[in-house]
Amino acid sequence: MSHLAARDSAAIWHPFTQRGMGAEPLPVIAARGARLTLEDGRDVIDGISSWWCNTLGHGHPELVAAAAGQMAVLDHVMFAGLTHEPAVTLAEDLLRALPPGYGKVFFSDNGSTACEVALKLALQLFHNRGKARMRIVALEGAYHGDTFGAMAAGARGIFSAPFEGHLFPVDRLPIEGGAEACGRLERLCASGEVAAFIFEPLVQGAGGMRMYAASVLNSYIEIARRHGVVTIADEVMTGFGRLGPLFASSLLDHAPEVICLSKGITGGTLPLAVTVVRDALFDEFVSADHSRTFFHGHTYTANPVACAVARRALALTQKEECWLNRARIEEAHMTFAEELASRADVSRVRVCGTILALDLIGMERGYTSSAGRGVSAMLLERGALLRPLGDVLYVLPPYCTTSGELGVLYGAIRGLLDERKRA
Ligand code: PMP
Repeated sequence: MSHLAARDSAAIWHPFTQRGMGAEPLPVIAARGARLTLEDGRDVIDGISSWWCNTLGHGHPELVAAAAGQMAVLDHVMFAGLTHEPAVTLAEDLLRALPPGYGKVFFSDNGSTACEVALKLALQLFHNRGKARMRIVALEGAYHGDTFGAMAAGARGIFSAPFEGHLFPVDRLPIEGGAEACGRLERLCASGEVAAFIFEPLVQGAGGMRMYAASVLNSYIEIARRHGVVTIADEVMTGFGRLGPLFASSLLDHAPEVICLSKGITGGTLPLAVTVVRDALFDEFVSADHSRTFFHGHTYTANPVACAVARRALALTQKEECWLNRARIEEAHMTFAEELASRADVSRVRVCGTILALDLIGMERGYTSSAGRGVSAMLLERGALLRPLGDVLYVLPPYCTTSGELGVLYGAIRGLLDERKRA
């Protein structure tokens, strides 16, 4: 065990990690572009964008400068009763960049809270109208975060089991769509009890990079809208170009009522999230009656440094160079997917924007699969930091990842598959 790993083990409790049941954490001493430098001197490629958030590459000089400049001027102030330029300008920029129709930005600081806020807004909207609606509809296999509301909306399993009795019930729809599911949604909505329909548009990340057709969502959203149900797009992973266009919602027939964004909002450098709504929804909270107020907020809401960085990150993500990089990665993924499709040891090879995913045949399913840890170690030996979700292996790189670096990631997967075949 390295010196740092030993100190870590004495003092730290890591997320999603059971002590003693996996490799010790890898000490990282620096990061630049798509590369992480490990304490032992190795350089590895961050093939999963550090939990899907790093869009523009590590240590981007413009983001570093934006953070340093803002930090020196205004580090942080509370956001109730006060405001500041970085938050206002970022909100304006976001509203311009999003599909048309959104009017207000509510800040928080991570993806779970962005979704938690969206669900609370939907429930309070009907409460404010004096006609409470209690039901939430979500997709099978969903993940919206680890706070209670977000967890309740997500698929149930080993993560949520200890809390089951405290999670509100959720009606679930399949990502395959179909007449039966649409009929069921129609009946549910017609009951007048459904407040919100929440979904990850087009790709369900934690559920196993499950990709599905826009037509399915279009049908569900059309039904929900007709019944006044608040539609919530959780674009925490899909936002900021991950699927190609800036927002996956722009690929839908009807833009949802609410959009949740985090991860790539700061290029993956600082914690920040927003829940964006239409003015019509906001207006229903405006009243001389305090009980209609949305009483929700976090200490670091709209942190000025994170906002200044987010503003710069958004501008960089909208630059032609960044669009071209995303297209280049998608094309490279497609070529590699063709190669993979001819192999008998993988199935369901799929690409959506900058995400490539495949299922490893013969691998145990589920996040806690011990085989997954072995796979990660084999890939790391080949210079690729990739973490399978059970039997699902995926590549989700920063957009600055060069073609040569993509080649290292693909080569690591090829090497892994060949080694598994020999074993
Ligand atoms: N929604 C989606 C779609 C996500 O992928 C995630 C994180 N993986 C979250 C919500 C939760 O975000 P956070 O980890 O920042 O709380």
